[in-house]
Amino acid sequence: MSEALLALGGNVGNSRAILDRAVKLLCDGTDVRLMARSSDYMTPPWGFKYQPPFINLCIVVETTLPPRDLLERAQDVELRLGRDRAHEKKNGPRTADIDILAYDDLTLDEPNLTLPHPRLFERAFVLVPLAEIAGDRVVAGRRIGDAAKAVDAAGIERLLPQAAQP
Ligand code: AMP
Repeated sequence: MSEALLALGGNVGNSRAILDRAVKLLCDGTDVRLMARSSDYMTPPWGFKYQPPFINLCIVVETTLPPRDLLERAQDVELRLGRDRAHEKKNGPRTADIDILAYDDLTLDEPNLTLPHPRLFERAFVLVPLAEIAGDRVVAGRRIGDAAKAVDAAGIERLLPQAAQP
């Protein structure tokens, strides 16, 4: 079993329900098991400013899938939830975006998969939820809780849990 940290986000449609579904589709309980899930956070749009706020969350999973298969599973879930890469704007609106932040302590630099995620330490919308569930985890020599305190988290709002979805 390996441990992976993943980030999910979206701002089109009912994002909390869509991301909840994404977690369920990703974590089938056999190949990928959900170990921890952060709260949902409302976060200001990043990159392209003139779009609705995002909902972001992070999860910790245990998985038997190798990293490329895990990415393939994540991209399949994005498609099933309506993501249309061909027509979307870079950093623009999207239904569900799933990134692998880290996979054990693996370092990988391939055209389609870089681990740890190269922009992890720039992104408060990832570090804040991740610190909630993996604050003591060290990625690329940095403790996640410390990295989360070092970024500007202005405008990031932790949301209360919703009633359970069937
Ligand atoms: P995005 O538009 O942010 O979903 O970027 C997805 C692209 O980034 C895909 O083509 C992936 O192959 C690539 N990619 C590289 N490293 C990662 C990673 N650690 N997690 C997710 N996607 C990655």
